[in-house]
Amino acid sequence: AKHGGRNRYCFFTEPMNRRVQQRLEMESGLRDAERRGELELGYQPQVDIASGAVVGVEALVRWRHPRHGLISPANFIPVAEESGQIARIGDWVLAEACRQCAAWRETALAGLPVAVNLSAAQLGRSDLAEGILRHLEAYGLPSSALQLEMTEGLFFHETEPVRSTLQSLQRSGLQLVVDDFGTGYSNLGYLKRFPVAKLKIDESFVRGLPEDTEDVVISSTLIRMAHGLRLRVIAEGVETAEQLAFLREHGCDEAQGFYFSRPLAGADLARWAQRR
Ligand code: C2E
Ligand code: CA
Ligand code: CA
Ligand code: CA
Repeated sequence: AKHGGRNRYCFFTEPMNRRVQQRLEMESGLRDAERRGELELGYQPQVDIASGAVVGVEALVRWRHPRHGLISPANFIPVAEESGQIARIGDWVLAEACRQCAAWRETALAGLPVAVNLSAAQLGRSDLAEGILRHLEAYGLPSSALQLEMTEGLFFHETEPVRSTLQSLQRSGLQLVVDDFGTGYSNLGYLKRFPVAKLKIDESFVRGLPEDTEDVVISSTLIRMAHGLRLRVIAEGVETAEQLAFLREHGCDEAQGFYFSRPLAGADLARWAQRR
C-alpha cells in the first residue's frame, strides 16, 4: 500500500484504528458486564414436530450495553474467546440457565431441558463438568435439565483435555448436541466415539426449503443420517409453515425458529407457553 501515497494510507488505517479501538473497548467492557448485570439470556422454544409440544428451550446470551444497546453474541462471543474471558462468561451462562430452569418449575415450561452453547475454550478446561454439576446441584436440578450444544469442529479438533472433559460430561448424564451440523466439514467418526443425543441442522440449510435443491438434498440427507444413527434431529431457523411442512414430511423430530417464537426473556417465554 506504500505507493498509494499518503491519502490512501490514511484511508486504510483510520477505519482500522477505529475497529481496533472498538474491539479494545468491547474487551474491557466485557470484563465487568456480568457484575453490572448487563448480560441476559434469551430463550427460544424447541417444538416436537409430530405433537406440536414444546420439548426444550435454547439459551442464547445477549449483552445489554449501556451505550450501544443490545449486542448479539455473534459479535461479542468471539471477543470473549480471544481475550480469554469465555470461561468466566460461559460459567455465568450455565449458572443463569440453571437459575431460570428452576424458576420455571411452576410454569408451563416445568421440567424441560435447557440447551446451552459451549465454546471450544470451555471444553478444554478440566473443571467444566465439575462446575456444571455444582450449578445443577445449587438449584436442585437433575443432570437432564441441561443439554450442551457444541459445534462439530470441537469434536474434529478433539484434543486429550477435550476428550476427557466430554467423557466426564457424558458420565455425569449430560446430553450432548452437535450444533450447526453439516457446516464444519468433518470426519464423522466422532459420532461413534461420543454418543451424542441430538444433531442440530444449521439454519443455512433450512433457509432455502422447500425450493432450493441443495438445501432439500442436504437437509433430507442429514435427517436420514441422524435417524440411521438412532439420533434425534432438530432443525433451527424455521421461519415459515412451508419449511416446517417439508421437515415434517421428511421425519425431522424437532424444530426451532421465528415461526414459533423469537428468543424471549424467561418470564415471557413461560407466558408464551401458557397461552399456547
Ligand atoms: P446458534 O447456536 O446457531 O444459534 C442460533 C441463532 O439463530 C441465534 O442467534 C438465534 O437467535 C437465531 N435464530 C433463531 N431462530 C431464527 C430464525 O427463525 N431465523 C433466523 N434468521 N435466525 C434465527 P443469536 O442469538 O444471535 O446467536 C448467535 C450465535 O452465538 C449462536 O448461534 C451461538 O453460536 C452463539 N451463542 C449464543 N449464546 C451463546 C453462549 O451462551 N455461549 C456461547 N459460547 N455461544 C453462544
Ligand atoms: Ca446453538
Ligand atoms: Ca452455533
Ligand atoms: Ca446455527
